[in-house]
Amino acid sequence: MNVATNSMLARPDREAGAMPLISLVVPVFNEGPIVRPNLHAILEAAAGDWYALELIAVDDGSADNTAEEIAQAAQKDERIRPLSFTRNFGKEAAILAGLAHAQGDAAVVLDGDLQHPPELIPDMLALWRQGLYVVEAVKQDRGNESVSQGLFAHAFYGLFRRFAKLDLRGHSDFKLLDREVIDAYLAFPERHRFFRAIIGWAQYPSAQIPFTVAERNGGTTHWGKLSLLRYAINNITSFSSLPLKLVSYLGLVTLLFGAIIGIVSLVQKFNGKALDGFTTVNLLIVIMGSAILLSLGIIGHYLARLYDEIKGRPPYVIKPPKRQPRK
Ligand code: UDP
Ligand code: MG
Repeated sequence: MNVATNSMLARPDREAGAMPLISLVVPVFNEGPIVRPNLHAILEAAAGDWYALELIAVDDGSADNTAEEIAQAAQKDERIRPLSFTRNFGKEAAILAGLAHAQGDAAVVLDGDLQHPPELIPDMLALWRQGLYVVEAVKQDRGNESVSQGLFAHAFYGLFRRFAKLDLRGHSDFKLLDREVIDAYLAFPERHRFFRAIIGWAQYPSAQIPFTVAERNGGTTHWGKLSLLRYAINNITSFSSLPLKLVSYLGLVTLLFGAIIGIVSLVQKFNGKALDGFTTVNLLIVIMGSAILLSLGIIGHYLARLYDEIKGRPPYVIKPPKRQPRK
């Protein structure tokens, strides 16, 4: 399935010489108390005199009143275009849906909790106007993050750099994409996506703007420790097959280890002083057992990725409008 052909709305023809249209893509999940003022604040901060704005607020299946709040905001400001999922599909799916529905000549993806300062948008657009295809806002300061979060990010980006050969340190989903890049991204056949890595991997002519992560202006982060771990494993396995290859190296190491132990045991047997061998056997079982399970686990992760991709299910389902009861 191609997401672009599946869900992209036809882009209306605009008059020649009209101002460029910029789409702001904002994924939101359970941000009821802050979403309405935030959407208005984003539009206000992003405004400029040489472009027009639309804001696609993607409600990622929120369980609170986020969708109603977005609808109210849209009544007040017609530049806001709401989009809702039937359930929570995750931020990556929300970004994808927002881009698929964007009609702009360029789009800026940013969080709905004002942690990505919208004041930077005019600067990003000025760089786009100069001819760049991608403008990335890069974290200069990770804001008020706990020690464990910082360590986790460090470990993840280190592994990612080694396995996927991409340095994503400081990168975020706060990015401007030219229409060319949006269409290319939508045409990717992958279902599981890692937005910031795919854009980095494509290496379009780009610029970076440093920013400091602002405080969340209400609510809490949606990332628990387990979901972060899942996120890390999924993204590494979808960007690199190196762990799979490491399995065979692990096999070689254990084979070598086994050969040494085997030779030692044979020599001792011929010399008539065979060990009673309890510790050796114990160690061998533990080491071989865990090496085999670890390898199977790694292969299993790739198999799961393959299974998910091959099923070909759409990455999200849009919530249909409320229907009147049929007579
Ligand atoms: N978000 C989303 N779907 C999710 C989780 C988060 O659309 O399943 C949105 C969330 O509403 C916010 C942005 O993604 O606008 C970043 O999420 P969050 O603030 O929880 O992440 P953090 O800033 O802590 O990395
Ligand atoms: Mg946040």
